[in-house]
Amino acid sequence: MNSIFDDFKLATKRFAKEQLSEIAKEFDENEAIDPSIIEKLKEQGYTSMMYPAENGGAEVDLDTVCAVVEEIAKYCASTAITLVGHLTGSVACLVGGNHEQKERFVYPNGRKNNLFAVSISEPGAGSDVTSIRTTAHKKDGGYVLNGSKCFVTNGGLADVYVIFARTDQTDRKGGLSAFIVPKETEGLHVGKKEKKMGLRGSYTTDLYLENAWIPEEQLIGMEGDGFSIIEKTMDRTRVVVAAHALGIASGALEFAVIYASERKQFGRTIGEFQGLQFMIADMSIKEETARRMVYYAAEQVINKNKIASYYSSIAKTVASDAAMEITTDAVQVLGGAGYIRDYPVERMMRDAKVTQIFEGTNQIQRMIIAKYKLKK
Ligand SMILES: Cc1cc2nc3c(=O)[nH]c(=O)nc-3n(C[C@H](O)[C@H](O)[C@H](O)COP(=O)(O)OP(=O)(O)OC[C@H]3O[C@@H](n4cnc5c(N)ncnc54)[C@H](O)[C@@H]3O)c2cc1C
Repeated sequence: MNSIFDDFKLATKRFAKEQLSEIAKEFDENEAIDPSIIEKLKEQGYTSMMYPAENGGAEVDLDTVCAVVEEIAKYCASTAITLVGHLTGSVACLVGGNHEQKERFVYPNGRKNNLFAVSISEPGAGSDVTSIRTTAHKKDGGYVLNGSKCFVTNGGLADVYVIFARTDQTDRKGGLSAFIVPKETEGLHVGKKEKKMGLRGSYTTDLYLENAWIPEEQLIGMEGDGFSIIEKTMDRTRVVVAAHALGIASGALEFAVIYASERKQFGRTIGEFQGLQFMIADMSIKEETARRMVYYAAEQVINKNKIASYYSSIAKTVASDAAMEITTDAVQVLGGAGYIRDYPVERMMRDAKVTQIFEGTNQIQRMIIAKYKLKK
């Protein structure tokens, strides 16, 4: 690992432990992250860490991004997913946008440091993104967007939305296009904020587009590039989502180990009983396996391995399944205390579930994995 990786990991660990570990419970109870935390993510350079150094970023590799997200998720998964939502939107602009678009909307400068969101999903288009129905019709040197979006992470918080809409009704895949839509755009409305099982501090909302006119300079790439922008973006961000799951798993395991070393029953700490030792061992095996897979997949993306997305899909599946299993076991290790909100593991268990669902469900990941394998 390089020194930038180590520096970022250490600094993030400190930041997350000091600034997030206590407040995570509050975000969960209030169902809202404190906006000052987003300002801190900006100040610490996390929102711009993937941008080129000459444009105000840290230009870190994907393994460092994973380390940052893992460390933040370990203490506050809601804050981490707010960052991941931003990274996903901004990466879509980085991979598909032109110089002017990056200068105007993405790179921080004296005036702004935009928070992003990405909006692909619709009530009728979840796993199958080619079912997107939001339309974009050419008009007056731009496009008029109409439609309903759902499940937008950072909805209502973001400064800029990357919205996917249909420019061609006849081509399901090739008819999708991506647009940069600033929050002030007339006709863009943020809908209801979802009440969720977990990640409750994060914002997840509907979005509505009612004759929202977007100038053609805000079309990312060319008309019809939407599907390939989604693929290129997720090739990078899927492994970051895996790191998010890994962070949750790691936080739960750490807490369970401390508890097992302190809690006494039958005159001994519960960690002295083989029944619990085997649980801790299995949790550790899953956590370490997930960690190796996440950073191996990140390395494949960095090295532009042709089948990097095969590894990213495996990483996402392994890490999110590990997160669900480890957090569930952590609740068991704590016994009744694990079920009580005073302890963080019940929150972590609720936070973990969605990691098996978003950024492509684990069933969809398995389809991708099998497709690569069978092609071979
Ligand atoms: C908290 C949260 C945050 C999110 N953030 C964003 C965001 O920022 N931007 C965004 O665009 N979207 C976001 N999403 C949406 C998310 O990506 C979708 O929920 C996900 O892709 C699944 O789509 P769906 O919910 O419509 O499920 P469906 O596609 O309806 O799937 C339902 C079930 O059927 C299974 N299934 C579907 N097709 C197949 C198949 N071919 N083979 C086998 N099984 C199948 C699925 O695995 C799942 O178990 C978010 C969702 C949540 C819950």
